[in-house]
Amino acid sequence: MFNLETIDLPVLGFRGLEADLTEEEQAIQEVAHRFAEEVMRPIGEKLDRMTPEEVVAEDSPLHDYMRQIHESGILDLGALAEMDNQQKSRIFPIIFEELGWGDSGLAIATLASSMPAFAAHNTGDPEIIERFGSLPGCWLATQPDRGSDVCDMRGVEVYEGANQFRGNLTCRMDGEDVIVNGQSSAWVSYAPLAQTALAYLPCDYGKGLVHENGRSLNIIALLIPLDLPGISRGKPLDKLGQRALPQGEVFFNEVRVPRKYIIATEEDAVTSVTAALTFANMSSQQAQYPAIF
Ligand SMILES: Cc1cc2nc3c(=O)[nH]c(=O)nc-3n(C[C@H](O)[C@H](O)[C@H](O)COP(=O)(O)OP(=O)(O)OC[C@H]3O[C@@H](n4cnc5c(N)ncnc54)[C@H](O)[C@@H]3O)c2cc1C
Repeated sequence: MFNLETIDLPVLGFRGLEADLTEEEQAIQEVAHRFAEEVMRPIGEKLDRMTPEEVVAEDSPLHDYMRQIHESGILDLGALAEMDNQQKSRIFPIIFEELGWGDSGLAIATLASSMPAFAAHNTGDPEIIERFGSLPGCWLATQPDRGSDVCDMRGVEVYEGANQFRGNLTCRMDGEDVIVNGQSSAWVSYAPLAQTALAYLPCDYGKGLVHENGRSLNIIALLIPLDLPGISRGKPLDKLGQRALPQGEVFFNEVRVPRKYIIATEEDAVTSVTAALTFANMSSQQAQYPAIF
């Protein structure tokens, strides 16, 4: 994750948009559909009636679900990372439409918890893949006072003479480390159980947080092991819906993350955020608003 490359637009023929699935896509769709019906629905129903604390407890059926989705092979991250962007742009929505039909909370838990591992596989760096490639994680992008703002990475929407909200969670370079301070939003999916994070943070590279254009912030894309000293979690969030999806804050107090875990800086990090948002929206829109059939 996450290179932004152009993919071919679909062809608008005589009969409308071409929507035929290949045999391989149909096979994956069928497996995902069966899994959604037979595994996700019964577990999702149980989780929906539990408290947020029970959902993340050691004996929670959520762990059984996570084991089964990984054993099913539906989300083989290594194999998916090797697909070209054209293939990825089709296969992820096909899979997540089915998983979302099974249970939208579990589908988002699956997607969000796999983002750091997927980002690690996409670097192609054996050390990063070894450290992050098979652990459940979360995606840290939004934070208090910096919610929807993260979609406007270049500060295009910022009014004349102002710059973007710096938010609460920021970082700075210090020798061989990146020092992270502050808290994420309370909506970080899978945060209560995550062991790693894919973080997109405002970063002071030595010249302040604000980019030289005077409007946007400097950004970094960083993989963070969540067992580092100085990291703590908030209470799992109690919600009206998607109750199978555990969410909550992650707090950072002078946390030292090794520089080797940086996956993109400055302009490349902006591209990476845009691609991550595209990836997340492409899959989560399908997961949260699946076709009903
Ligand atoms: C199910 C779920 C899962 C999530 N998972 C994650 C996750 O894994 N990681 C993560 O980082 N975050 C996650 N989030 C957080 C989510 O991305 C933020 O909640 C979202 O960006 C909105 O930010 P906010 O709540 O701060 O609202 P705000 O950005 O403060 O927006 C509040 C209201 O103001 C409006 N508004 C905002 N900006 C403008 C503007 N410029 N002009 C006019 N109106 C505006 C919005 O439309 C909205 O109605 C998740 C949220 C949900 C609901």
